[in-house]
Amino acid sequence: MARDARYDVLFEPVRLGPVTARNRFFQVPHCNGMGHRDPTAHAVMRGVKAEGGWAVVCTEEVEIHPSSDVGGFVEGRLWDEADIPAHQRLVEQVHAHGSLAGIELVHGGMVSANLYARMPALGPSNLPVTGYEPVQARAMDREDIADLRRRHRQAVQRSLRAGYDLVYVYAAHGLTTLQHFLSRRYNLRDDEYGGTLENRARLLREVLEDTLEECEGRAAVACRVVVDELLGEEGIERPEIEQLFTLVGELPDLWDVMVGFWPDDSRTSRFAHEAWTEEHFRGVKELTSKPVVGIGWLTSPDTMVRLVRDGVLDLIGAARPSIADPFLPLKVEEGRLEDIRECIGCNVCVTGDWTSTPIRCTQNPSMGEEWRRGWHPERFRPAGSDARVLVVGGGPAGLEAAMALGKRGYEVVLAEAGRELGGRVLREARLPGLAAWIRIADYRRGQLAKLPNVELALESTVTADEVRGYGFDYVAVATGARWRADGVGRWHTRPPALDPAVETLTPDDLMAGRRPAGSRILLFDDDHYYLGGVLAELLAGEGKLVTLVTPAPRVSEWSVNTMEHERIHRRLLDAGVELATAQTLSAVEGGAAHVVDVYSRRERELSLDALVLVTARLPNDELARDLGARAIGDAYAPGTIAAAVWDGRRYAEELDGDPHGDGVPFNREVVELAPLGIEVSA
Ligand code: ADP
Ligand code: SF4
Repeated sequence: MARDARYDVLFEPVRLGPVTARNRFFQVPHCNGMGHRDPTAHAVMRGVKAEGGWAVVCTEEVEIHPSSDVGGFVEGRLWDEADIPAHQRLVEQVHAHGSLAGIELVHGGMVSANLYARMPALGPSNLPVTGYEPVQARAMDREDIADLRRRHRQAVQRSLRAGYDLVYVYAAHGLTTLQHFLSRRYNLRDDEYGGTLENRARLLREVLEDTLEECEGRAAVACRVVVDELLGEEGIERPEIEQLFTLVGELPDLWDVMVGFWPDDSRTSRFAHEAWTEEHFRGVKELTSKPVVGIGWLTSPDTMVRLVRDGVLDLIGAARPSIADPFLPLKVEEGRLEDIRECIGCNVCVTGDWTSTPIRCTQNPSMGEEWRRGWHPERFRPAGSDARVLVVGGGPAGLEAAMALGKRGYEVVLAEAGRELGGRVLREARLPGLAAWIRIADYRRGQLAKLPNVELALESTVTADEVRGYGFDYVAVATGARWRADGVGRWHTRPPALDPAVETLTPDDLMAGRRPAGSRILLFDDDHYYLGGVLAELLAGEGKLVTLVTPAPRVSEWSVNTMEHERIHRRLLDAGVELATAQTLSAVEGGAAHVVDVYSRRERELSLDALVLVTARLPNDELARDLGARAIGDAYAPGTIAAAVWDGRRYAEELDGDPHGDGVPFNREVVELAPLGIEVSA
């Protein structure tokens, strides 16, 4: 099908100085947890984005020199010649599909304690590094500034040798020295680099000029800048940015604008709506004649068209939408909008960076696995036999397995006990803030409807005897998991004493619509991801008096990795939820909860009407065990939705494949040993 003419504007080329983007789809720099450690996996992942139609495909932040390393996180690296081949490989992958390759050079300065390089951190002023590393940044003197400029220049030269078409000068996300110099909060200098905005912008201007001089018409220069740090008077605000544009607005070939710090920029769908950045971006284009790109969790082509037509943006920036669907542009171009795998805004992709592991995505299980396992977001290996496969359970794992098996060409029956496909997603998407998660089910339901070789059997609770009678060659059991009602989890590995007279509910009960009769609720969160916080919010919103007790030092502790933690904390406080962190529930006896401080072990009694236990789940694996069949997803090992989708894909990919046995089941790169070369002094 040809594309709808109303999207034509998205396919207009955009000139970026000496190069031209073939359309307006721009994959802005994004982290991926692979970086310099997994260069080929990274390169191939970017190549797939180019194949999917993104006109510009960028790296994540790339360190220019060890004097500012982002140790602890695995980002890009371009310290010297030795780093160039990895970048050349990335550029080749992107160029192979006719896209431009961009590199985001970074000098992190005071956000980085230089844990790997062990060199003192550098910043505009003598201040502790951001975060809690017990070291300070040293106020850069003129020599340090000259060093930074020279090293940035050298990194630009290496970028050009690697073949990049676009080089970033990066002053955004609160992550770079160039931004720290701009900021009155961090720049306390009284020399020509401090004080007035003109002075604070001096280093940015100099680095921009250096970069333009090096690129000399061979590559475009982008400048990424924050348009409002969202810190009020303390931070960089719009009037200063407007002034900045009068100073350097015409220097770069492209402006890449963003809002706030990284957790603002990549806020989850629980805390933001599509195009939430628009109000901040309006008017930026009037400050410069150069093209402007920006993000805003833009997943809908209609919103993209509107932003271009309204003169808000020239290029549609996307990180997460391009992760969830690397083929989004091509699908728009081919008029296949219903095939778009829309990002749900969960930030599981971001957790790869925070845990220094390869990027993963809830919607797109092939993300990060393109080279490691040879998975493609759109293409599937043909079936290895004419086997018939039964998939039991239509949650994320079963849906993904049935879809991927169907796309491989197998004859598939997907049996689901309920009336609707979606499993846990149907239930969780009804909870506060999680509505966008229904896209996990929507996308797969849409794809399954197009596969004549996949038969859906709804309202079909399958038993082991029935399955035996059907004669399928393979059975995948994706029957999910159930929340425990006995308090077992991380803290209690055996059931604690729980007074049967106190009403006790699990997340399954609440999601099924049951509500506690009384008003004083103790919610014990020993799961530590989103659900405990979401259920506390739900109950408080319905007028219950909720105390959230968690042994972790923070509520929804793991959401630090999705960068939601601060917003969750604030929302719970706003909802009136009492937060009892670093405290655990030891027992419920005589109608009272015994709550213990995890450090002092001091105990207090809390009266309650009902207990909600968000602790752990048990796999629904009875059917799999009866049949001796393979359980997948939560039925195999309860985990995230992302893990269940991934396991569904793995099942489908590996059917009729070579068993890995004890071998490593994915490709990886092992560093080449260098000669020993030095003698350790005695
Ligand atoms: P996962 O996250 O692993 O996909 P879910 O709990 O989301 O797991 O989904 C499990 C699905 O399996 C639910 O929709 C449930 O109704 C269905 N189910 C469970 N047992 C059976 C069964 N015996 N026959 C058919 N469907 C089942
Ligand atoms: Fe979107 Fe979640 Fe995938 Fe990230 S992990 S791209 S937020 S669906």
